[in-house]
Amino acid sequence: MVQESTQAASAVIARPIRIPALSDNYIWLLPYAAGRAAVIDPAVTEPVLEAAAAHGLQITHILNTHWHPDHVGGNAAIKAATGCTIIGPAREAARIPGLDRAVDEGDQVTLGGLVADVLFVGAHTAGHIAYHFPTAHLLFPGDTLFAMGCGRLFEGSADDMFRALGKLARLPADTEIYCAHEYTLSNARFAITAEPGNQALAARFAAVQAARAKGLATVPFRLSDELETNPFVRATSADELGKRRTAKDAF
Ligand SMILES: [Zn+2]
Repeated sequence: MVQESTQAASAVIARPIRIPALSDNYIWLLPYAAGRAAVIDPAVTEPVLEAAAAHGLQITHILNTHWHPDHVGGNAAIKAATGCTIIGPAREAARIPGLDRAVDEGDQVTLGGLVADVLFVGAHTAGHIAYHFPTAHLLFPGDTLFAMGCGRLFEGSADDMFRALGKLARLPADTEIYCAHEYTLSNARFAITAEPGNQALAARFAAVQAARAKGLATVPFRLSDELETNPFVRATSADELGKRRTAKDAF
């Protein structure tokens, strides 16, 4: 199950550390070298600083996916406490507190021996980006792709989300996805109404219900699971995706 390239990356980095915040946010602490870590989308400050200290990690970077307050709320105070560098979406640069480096599609972010490709996935917000670490098989999609769901279309269209999800769906199927919210159970409840005959989806719904009943997190998950069970990833047109998104908004 673990490929050679993943083993090589795992030899120097630990897996991302989950920091629950607010009602359903997940902040991710990514150790990338001995004693060093990046934080993805810090909604808040104290739990992040506490988690870093508990793991003996110095925060050197913040990576933001989009401007929403529950993704950048900790930027200023974490930067003040650590002197870290803040990297975020160029098209939302004015709305990212403390931004040091603006990035967009085609840019790369280097963290020690780990390199992320920046993907433009504007739809949930107009300038939204995702960070893909190909050698580590990690994707941080922010609020674009969730387990069996996708982000609401606050600033973009169904066409934008169709393009964004199509871009993410073409990544390697064994990519591990670290999204920013625990929305899985409510997404699954809607997904089975969108695809009532999907056996893989029915099985995943049962597994997710069991996990949540025990208080377990359902993130990360694999892209291969989304290809089989996510009604937004599986939509065959922007029109179909848009109709499903509208139905989910009212679900
Ligand atoms: Zn958001």
